[in-house]
Amino acid sequence: MTSPKDSRPSKPLDPQTELVTSGRDTVAQKGFINPPIVRGSTVLYPTAEDLHAHRGEFQYGRHGTPTTKALQQALMALEGPNCAGVGLAPSGVAAISTALLAILKAGDHLLVIDSVYRPTRNFCDSVLKRYGVETTYFDPLIGAGVEKLFKPNTRAVLVEAPGSQSFEMPDIPAIAAVAHARGALVVDDNTWATPLFHRSLDQGVDISIQAGTKYIGGHSDIMFGTISANAKTWPLITEAIRLLGVCAGPDEVFLALRGLRTLAVRLAHHQQAGLEMARWFASRPEVLRVIHPALETDPGHAIWKRDFTGATGLFSIVLKPASKQAVDAFLDTVTLFGMGYSWGGFESLVIPFDCASYRTATKWNPGGPTLRFHIGLENLDDLKADLERGFAALKAAG
Ligand SMILES: *Cc1c(COP(=O)(O)O)cnc(C)c1O
Repeated sequence: MTSPKDSRPSKPLDPQTELVTSGRDTVAQKGFINPPIVRGSTVLYPTAEDLHAHRGEFQYGRHGTPTTKALQQALMALEGPNCAGVGLAPSGVAAISTALLAILKAGDHLLVIDSVYRPTRNFCDSVLKRYGVETTYFDPLIGAGVEKLFKPNTRAVLVEAPGSQSFEMPDIPAIAAVAHARGALVVDDNTWATPLFHRSLDQGVDISIQAGTKYIGGHSDIMFGTISANAKTWPLITEAIRLLGVCAGPDEVFLALRGLRTLAVRLAHHQQAGLEMARWFASRPEVLRVIHPALETDPGHAIWKRDFTGATGLFSIVLKPASKQAVDAFLDTVTLFGMGYSWGGFESLVIPFDCASYRTATKWNPGGPTLRFHIGLENLDDLKADLERGFAALKAAG
């Protein structure tokens, strides 16, 4: 039974409205807007007959609760009509490893974008290798040229757009067209854009992953991951989730749903603030280049404009050549930009990075020290003043 207020118009709602209204069942929730945080392992059957028939909407805590159901419904509404199901994982890395284990077997070949999140690369080079899966890395800008790297046993292509840290923008539809012509699946790490700004499953991607730790949670207080799959791959994903015992904790699931409710307003701010700060960095004499696909000057801009409906608050800059000591003076002087991994919360962050040491398909030679920024929800004049102090320290340490 549902409340009349839970009924939905037949015409599809805008994603912004879906984020607010989907996954609600006010009758089951006894009038409360939000679902309860259901902590549970055992689910009791009322009769022996029900037990033998495995009858009941929920059977066991690991397989789902009213809390996970609400979040899954909301995520499915956000992913759009090509989403057949969403699996929940205890972290972004767990979502990626579960998805890869779900679709690969010994003897398979996997193509992975060279700009992939580094722990994903580590998983391919260790666990997958040990299990007899061979990985080949490819140039993020290769597009349809990825065809020449296919082998008869290529089972899947893993992309990430834009690339972690370096923000190259791959041509996902072109890569997906080649993969599908070869009978391979396409997996996308969609953490940067979220389905609000990039509907991967509408662009030829079969499995779309998010580190829910980032923008879905939005407050740097959870570890969480999601695996969204189309009809072709959802049976493989559910099977792997069940067999591997993957499940997410009730508090994380609740907080992920709470984060989703405000995702659109937060991302609108991160987008606008990120772009303004990117333009500000581009005007600074200390900066060689800003790597942000929503900037008109960025090499990935045309693809971003074609395939994405927005940009978020994470981008990188290349400084003009400076000593490590000078860059460290900058990092130690700014106070509003915390130094730490992860991103997607309310706070601004900065982290130095160097892709050169682990890239294998492409050379990373940016021409100066590189810093990745996350622009949070602070006042932009305060952030600029903080960075100006940092640049003064960089110059003084010259
Ligand atoms: C953070 C991140 C992950 C991993 O998420 P965790 O929740 O930290 O495991 C995966 N991919 C990308 C692009 C990320 O930024």
